[in-house]
Amino acid sequence: MLALRLSHKLFLAFALILGVVLSLAGWSLITTRRLTAENHGIIHRALPAVRLEVTLLEGVAALRRIEARHAILRDPAYLQLFGERAQAIEGDLAVLGALVSTAEERQTLADAAEQLRKYRTLPERPPTAKTEAVQSALRLEALVHRLYEQSSSELRRRGTLTGQLEEQSRLVALLAIVTSLAMSLAIAVFASLRIARPLRELRVAARAVERRKLSEPIPVRGCDEIAELTIAFNRMATRLREVDSLKQHLFAAITHDLRTPLTVIAWSAERLGKGAPGMLGERQASLVENIRMSTDRLLGLVNQLLDLGRLKTGKLHLDLDLADVASLIQDAVDEIRPWAEDRRLRFDITVSDSIPKLLLDAKRMHQVLVNLLANAVKFSKTEGLITVTAEVVHHDVVVKVIDTGIGIPAHLQSTVFERYEQAHTERGGTGLGLAVVKGFVLAHGGRVWVESEEGKGSCFAFTLPLEVPGR
Ligand code: ADP
Repeated sequence: MLALRLSHKLFLAFALILGVVLSLAGWSLITTRRLTAENHGIIHRALPAVRLEVTLLEGVAALRRIEARHAILRDPAYLQLFGERAQAIEGDLAVLGALVSTAEERQTLADAAEQLRKYRTLPERPPTAKTEAVQSALRLEALVHRLYEQSSSELRRRGTLTGQLEEQSRLVALLAIVTSLAMSLAIAVFASLRIARPLRELRVAARAVERRKLSEPIPVRGCDEIAELTIAFNRMATRLREVDSLKQHLFAAITHDLRTPLTVIAWSAERLGKGAPGMLGERQASLVENIRMSTDRLLGLVNQLLDLGRLKTGKLHLDLDLADVASLIQDAVDEIRPWAEDRRLRFDITVSDSIPKLLLDAKRMHQVLVNLLANAVKFSKTEGLITVTAEVVHHDVVVKVIDTGIGIPAHLQSTVFERYEQAHTERGGTGLGLAVVKGFVLAHGGRVWVESEEGKGSCFAFTLPLEVPGR
């Protein structure tokens, strides 16, 4: 098939429509001109001809009556009247010559004129020519009558033709409307299939790229501008994927390499703090404690980044074992408590006795609880309350961490679980904690959500299934 550019295809389609519409308009113009000519012929020739022929029929009859009276009375006045009337009829026949249009009419008209000429001379002759005069008059009458028949039939023919032309002109107009509508519809369908649909696919794909979810290239159809755009888009998406994966590898490598020296620094700081190589002075001990705490924070961050990388690539390995939810909550609260007490925050913990031991990765679940509790402390006003509850609901254990803090604006609640997304940037942080929470909970087969009201507080909740699927 001929490969045409989109612009050429559109140009051809519009040219085709224009061509069809122009041809129909031309056809309509010709039909209208013929119609006008026929109407003109009827009004100015055919109709006056028939009217004149009716007058002629009456004139010839009158002529016969005059001639009959003259034959009986031999009154010269009748002869004069006969002559005048015959001349008038001759004049009418001459006028008819300009009105009739067919060859038959013209022939009959010539015959009638000839017959009139013969008839005119008869009354002047002796009475012996009487029979001849009667026959001549009858012939003239018959000829004028024939002429009338021929002109009437011509008038009817023109009337029928006018009707047909009117019908034809209506048909052409209808055809023009239907054709242009059908072709416009065809162009609209073409535009929708060949332009709008691929553009919609590109828009969806662009959104997917934005969310870093595009995996399959968009199919390329044809070889027009849209196809070129699709090819360019596919190339760009592939390049982005490559860059993304390169970035992830680099990121994973750097964070991994950071962990070992950080662990060594943390271990050394702890040993120094405990006075292993010798007792430290008060000032030195405080500096060593600073080093230990900062290193712990850095290690936590590096570990979260490594876990997020593993979650993204599906390489997170869960170390599953039976664990007690109440103890997990208590351990996490104990870890956070010194910081919470610093800010004069109270804890209220309610864990239902009916919760059985669950098969889970205790280290990862500890991280989930610590992240949620740390956020509750960080985003609480001093002297607030942090409530932790755990209960069985249907086939899940539902854990909630509720605070009386600053809350989250409604329009940001759906994004806070995405990596690097923050609803409040003024309090520092990285925007990674909740992404880790979500990743770990989903990896355990659970769900996670937040309910929050600005200025009143937030409730972060997650579920853990009582039965781990596949175990
Ligand atoms: P970070 O706390 O390091 O910013 P997170 O992923 O833990 O990152 O949290 C993302 C964002 O969600 C926070 O920046 C904050 O805006 C919001 N957020 C999380 N927990 C709370 C909370 N308990 N109260 C109010 N906002 C919160």
